[in-house]
Amino acid sequence: MSITGKLFIDGAWIAGTAGTYHPHNPATGAPLSPAMTMASSAQVDAALAAAAVAAPVFRNSSLQQRAEFLRLCADEIMALGNELIVRVCEETGYPAGRGEGERGRTCNQLRLFADTIMQGDYLDARIDTALPDRLPAPRPDLRHLNQAIGPVVVFGASNFPLAFSVAGGDTAAAFAAGCPVLVKGHSSHPGTSELVAQAIARALAKSGLPKGVFSLLMGSGAQVGAALVTAPVVKAVGFTGSFAGGMALVELANARPEPIPVFAEMGSINPVILLPGALQQKAQEIAKGFVGSLTQGTGQFCVNPGLVIAIDDAALQDFMATAANCIAQTPAGLMLNARICSAYADGVKEYAKQAGVEIISSGAAAQSEQGYYGRAILMAATADCFLQNPRIHEEVFGPAALIIKCKDKHDIVKVLDRLKGQLTATMHCSDGELAGYQDIVDLLSIKVGRIVVNGFPTGVEVCHAMVHGGPFPASTDSRFTSVGTNAIMRFVRPVCYQNFPENLLPAALRNSNPLGLLRLINGIKSKDKI
Ligand code: NAP
Repeated sequence: MSITGKLFIDGAWIAGTAGTYHPHNPATGAPLSPAMTMASSAQVDAALAAAAVAAPVFRNSSLQQRAEFLRLCADEIMALGNELIVRVCEETGYPAGRGEGERGRTCNQLRLFADTIMQGDYLDARIDTALPDRLPAPRPDLRHLNQAIGPVVVFGASNFPLAFSVAGGDTAAAFAAGCPVLVKGHSSHPGTSELVAQAIARALAKSGLPKGVFSLLMGSGAQVGAALVTAPVVKAVGFTGSFAGGMALVELANARPEPIPVFAEMGSINPVILLPGALQQKAQEIAKGFVGSLTQGTGQFCVNPGLVIAIDDAALQDFMATAANCIAQTPAGLMLNARICSAYADGVKEYAKQAGVEIISSGAAAQSEQGYYGRAILMAATADCFLQNPRIHEEVFGPAALIIKCKDKHDIVKVLDRLKGQLTATMHCSDGELAGYQDIVDLLSIKVGRIVVNGFPTGVEVCHAMVHGGPFPASTDSRFTSVGTNAIMRFVRPVCYQNFPENLLPAALRNSNPLGLLRLINGIKSKDKI
């Protein structure tokens, strides 16, 4: 089935009745066919009703059934073949290699969640057996289990058309937990979204799970997105995008009669701290690596390193000269859409006009008059200038970075102390140097979700130990990650069963331990039967 412009609602492909639009190829600005349709409020309601029917069945499905469904989704995405990669490239301007890499990441992510739920650790099965003879009062039998929170709305991210979109990390985590997913597709890549939704629809049909486990709805955030987030049947939201968008959803969710959690990842400027020993030893090497990280994917990553902090000495000047040279040789890169391209240009202009901000280097101008291109830019300011001007603390989404020149270590600490919550921070150091900066490490562990040593923040591994989230405003709930298997914890909630008959308990909590889980029994981890 090729791209039709239709929506997936209650197991059927239906043309949206709220109008049509064409996405654009960012390389040419030309509209792409076919016309995509948008969901009416009646169609949003139909998808919500289907999710409500599916929720109790999916919640009680076995781990095995959900793992099979996740693996089928991955297989069906791979079966889309090159048609998917071609469309990703047309809609995002990404080269085929990036599309293929992201497809691999998306499918591995789905399979990793399948393997993870089969281990059952996320269920956090805990059993405190009854103590009938305890004095002064007996203890009842108490059994704890994490269960699916209910239907989840997922907003696809513009910059990850596969790995953070229709079948991306949020969807995989919600499916793994047993939550139906209603995707509000991103308007920049609707054809990609539809193809991936077709793959999920085929997997769903093969799995025998209810039709309402998955829906794809296209349309504006203000209409379709808001209708989904305010619907009583919806119990959580996963979002990656702008601060304004994320906060608008938080406000909608909090204003509901029953407020719900919005897990929004809203980006960050990801400080990179260059310690003096590292700069002495390898200023030029670090500069080259830094520019590579800054300009990768035209800087359109939430973990893009937008701030460099170091003591201003000859070694920093060496770093700046090398970085400036690399930036000057960087060709203009494609940006995802007209809105992101103009927001980048405006953001750079705003930074450049602030007192004390100097432009060190700019990338080459675009060769073409058409399309949405962004030029890399490197700027610098003193620590005093940074501390006095919050306008240069904001993210500029794209390949722009600001170097903060500090007088001494005390200045570095003051700059870090002033930063808002961040997804990552990076420290470059020579052998043994980090031990002298434990105070900075402690400060960073309060401010950020991931601390990188002698590397760069771009490249977020999908694994068990990853943390992709951070204190506000990097994300709305710093207790959770949106990448890696722990992301499932956003979409479960604990339920305690007290004095329940054995045969009515969920399988994970039965005395016979039929799932073979590692459980916390009277405070001791064990796979034993009771
Ligand atoms: P966005 O504007 O936040 O949009 C993301 C999704 O949220 C879209 O589906 C959008 O719907 C929806 N949305 C936005 N505002 C909404 C509202 N008030 N109510 C309901 N839904 C709403 O993000 P974007 O389009 O990806 O890029 C715009 C900017 O976001 C970038 O310039 C950059 O600053 C930032 N960004 C951050 C990250 C990150 O990783 N944190 C990633 C990409 C972009 P529509 O279809 O109506 O647009």
